Amino acid sequence: MNWSPRVKPIKIRQLYRYARLGIYEDTLLHDVGWELHARCADIATVADVYREGCVPCPKCGTKITRRIDPLFSKGEGGTREHWFRCPHCTGRLLWRDCRQALRNTPRCFDCRAVLQKEVVLRCACGKTWSQEAYKQSTRTRVLLPCPHCLELVRRPDTPPRDRTTKNRRSEPELQCPKCQSVARHQHGNIECTACGYKRRWRDYRKSLKKKDEKLECPNCEHTFKWQAWRKSVRSLRTGNPQPARDFVEKWRKCRTPQQRMIQIDTLLQTLHGRGPLAPLFIDSGEHKIREMLDDLAS
Ligand SMILES: [Zn+2]
Ligand SMILES: [Zn+2]
Ligand SMILES: [Zn+2]
Ligand SMILES: [Zn+2]
Ligand SMILES: [Zn+2]
Repeated sequence: MNWSPRVKPIKIRQLYRYARLGIYEDTLLHDVGWELHARCADIATVADVYREGCVPCPKCGTKITRRIDPLFSKGEGGTREHWFRCPHCTGRLLWRDCRQALRNTPRCFDCRAVLQKEVVLRCACGKTWSQEAYKQSTRTRVLLPCPHCLELVRRPDTPPRDRTTKNRRSEPELQCPKCQSVARHQHGNIECTACGYKRRWRDYRKSLKKKDEKLECPNCEHTFKWQAWRKSVRSLRTGNPQPARDFVEKWRKCRTPQQRMIQIDTLLQTLHGRGPLAPLFIDSGEHKIREMLDDLAS
């Protein structure tokens, strides 16, 4: 799989030079926009791997399910949170998605309109919050708007401890490390009835992680190692893929040069506010990028 390169700062500068003169150079807008789009799509793909536990085959793109579920494995970028569905739009959610959406775009807790960022956060309906109080609220509230449909959803209860045992039917098939027949995850152990192998589940998982995971594509039979794959996407990995996802979604809907400029600018403004995120998108050092974004914002 060929990941798309980061966008060259020189093109971005050029775009803004034109825009300042009121010129929307559409060839350049397409150029920069599609490059950003490709990069954003890759960032979203990599983020999905960490959320869903499926790795795209580097040869053919087929999704391969990992044996370690990253959602339940902290070291693998998981959170031990669990998925739930929005009762209104049935979208699949993590509670932290609901929080993150409000960090990206603060909304009124009452009427859910987007808040104006002044010294305080102000809603057209008259409500105001100090930035600090708002932050505190997103952390502690048990009702937050669904990022998809904006209806209120309730924070799910913490999953019970024996969850992994209860849900074992939904887990991918286990292989006995000794005899390769089908093993089971039960009584907090991995157990094989064929050869009698038995080991604490926790220790088994730890050893898997250390040993690295061999992945085989069911489509083209290409094999590769998880750790190597993980290293190959290091420059695409972020805990906050939302700006990239947003851009992918909105860029496709742009119909005019003005709309294209607005979406590119929105993304760059977001990157400007989140320093360490920018080098994922733009091909330059963090310091240089910051200087450029400062320039563009002024
Ligand atoms: Zn919803
Ligand atoms: Zn939803
Ligand atoms: Zn309001
Ligand atoms: Zn066995
Ligand atoms: Zn393949």
